Amino acid sequence: MRVTVLGSGGALVTPRPGCGCRVCEDARAHGGASKRGGPSLYVHDAHLLVDAPEDVVWLLNRRGIERVNHLFITHWHPDHTAGFRVVETLAWDLATGGARACIDVWLNAATLARLGDHWRYFERRGYCRLHTIQPGATDQLGPLSARWFGYAPDTFLTGAVLTDNSSRVIVAMDETKDLATYLAAEPWAQGCDIAVVETGWFLQGPQGQELGPPDLAFRTTEAGFVRDTVPLVRALRPAQAVLVHINGDLVGRTPAELDALAAEYPDLPLRFAHDGLTVTTGATSVGDE
Ligand SMILES: [Zn+2]
Ligand SMILES: [Zn+2]
Repeated sequence: MRVTVLGSGGALVTPRPGCGCRVCEDARAHGGASKRGGPSLYVHDAHLLVDAPEDVVWLLNRRGIERVNHLFITHWHPDHTAGFRVVETLAWDLATGGARACIDVWLNAATLARLGDHWRYFERRGYCRLHTIQPGATDQLGPLSARWFGYAPDTFLTGAVLTDNSSRVIVAMDETKDLATYLAAEPWAQGCDIAVVETGWFLQGPQGQELGPPDLAFRTTEAGFVRDTVPLVRALRPAQAVLVHINGDLVGRTPAELDALAAEYPDLPLRFAHDGLTVTTGATSVGDE
């Protein structure tokens, strides 16, 4: 299987207009891997797009991806759905003024309840078909099967284990607080070739400085890198762990500083993503930037 990280950012992309933090300044000065688009992946084998952030059209363009057969929406939060109209952008046909393709969209009940009425318009136009995911069920996405799992309060998040005949990829894009405890008891989630998981929160920057005010709600409500992500990777035991959803300002680290952090865990196969990073089961290669 081959997976490309289209956007390695989180709810905050990098650089953020008007932001003078050191991570955004680094991205303006150096570009390349320092720039991060919204959270999204592409699984080449099934022409599968995972999540639709605001900038997803441009992230697809940047990687030369022209075909999307499936769109898996992990949850309703705007940083994962605000670019949903990508289905129209991809499917609209000038010759007929209608749809030239119909994208299968996989979404959970919470997302459907929140955004379904709005998205049915695109379904009526023929650009997509909405399929409601049942946690624990398996669906066929072209050559891949997807075993869905629900997590986070009220299971408003969906993760997936994607399988072909020879390899497995597990995806948990966001809201992974306490997910390690759940998946440590689930053999089907463990030992995958690739785990793509959220990076989580940092309480301190690389020089030990506090990131954000001490009473910032995120410090306790969101997944933390040390508290949640490291135990999650330990529980999952993947051959490669790709860390995504990197909220630039809020992790306080440049790409080089994130690489140095990963090196502090020599027993874990951690790799902080950058836009365009492509990983394959069995080997790792680096994208254009
Ligand atoms: Zn998010
Ligand atoms: Zn910033």
